[in-house]
Amino acid sequence: MKHYRKEIFLEVPTRRAFVNITPQVEAILKESGIKNGLLLCNAMHITASVFINDDESGLHHDYEVWLEKIAPHEPVSQYRHNGYEDNADAHIKRQIMGREVVVAVTDGKLDFGTWERIFYGEFDGRRKKRVLVKIIGE
Ligand code: ZN
Repeated sequence: MKHYRKEIFLEVPTRRAFVNITPQVEAILKESGIKNGLLLCNAMHITASVFINDDESGLHHDYEVWLEKIAPHEPVSQYRHNGYEDNADAHIKRQIMGREVVVAVTDGKLDFGTWERIFYGEFDGRRKKRVLVKIIGE
């Protein structure tokens, strides 16, 4: 069995954003040479997510509105975590949107369902962050 590991670096200029990282993940899969197996992709920060869904801007707007209802950023004083920081909402948003995805690799390609794409969800941006890609298979 082969294995391959690589990190993707992102620096989102806004506090929150959804970034389609599918092209980067596909490039890493190609350079791994692995044709069949499993690919894990996870955020390496507790204020960011990796998830799979549709690359549709209306949906991303809906996520933003929905997440702000559940865990509004303001007022920051409403959160106990914000004694030293202002990112309690980002931790909660990350929990809801998830840490990682696993995708089957078949014949050298990500074996997606219809319209599935991999997204990085940033909830406390404006600094350099990492996403891990780990692939096992042959
Ligand atoms: Zn924090």
